[in-house]
Amino acid sequence: MTDQALRSKAFDQAIAEDVLIGSRCLVCGNISVPQRQICPNCHSDQVERIQVNGIGTLATFTVIYVPPTSMADAGYNAKNPYCVGIVALQEGPRISAQIVGLDLSDPATIKIGMPLKQTFVVRGEGESAKKFLAFEPA
Ligand SMILES: [Zn+2]
Repeated sequence: MTDQALRSKAFDQAIAEDVLIGSRCLVCGNISVPQRQICPNCHSDQVERIQVNGIGTLATFTVIYVPPTSMADAGYNAKNPYCVGIVALQEGPRISAQIVGLDLSDPATIKIGMPLKQTFVVRGEGESAKKFLAFEPA
């Protein structure tokens, strides 16, 4: 398995346990989510895995009416759109995830900067069910 695949597997495993993980550089303190083997700021490999608290604010978002196949299979379509946002985590990094618990019939109620907290959603059924990171209004 490649580094990327291993990293992604560890991240998915943490998500399966309702935990959001990242990494902190022991040299410069930079925090990355998902975790990285090499610090993107100073390129040190002295990084430790950390759990982040999953609290942040909405940096930007988009409401998706024409979903990719995986989301269409999960029941999303033009009549049942979903929201994807970039969340600025309290620890600093930004992460892209589905934002749930919003009134998508009135996007004007969705505010940049609104406080969010992590939650987890399951898409798919039976063997193919998988848990994903999402955020909801705090
Ligand atoms: Zn660093």
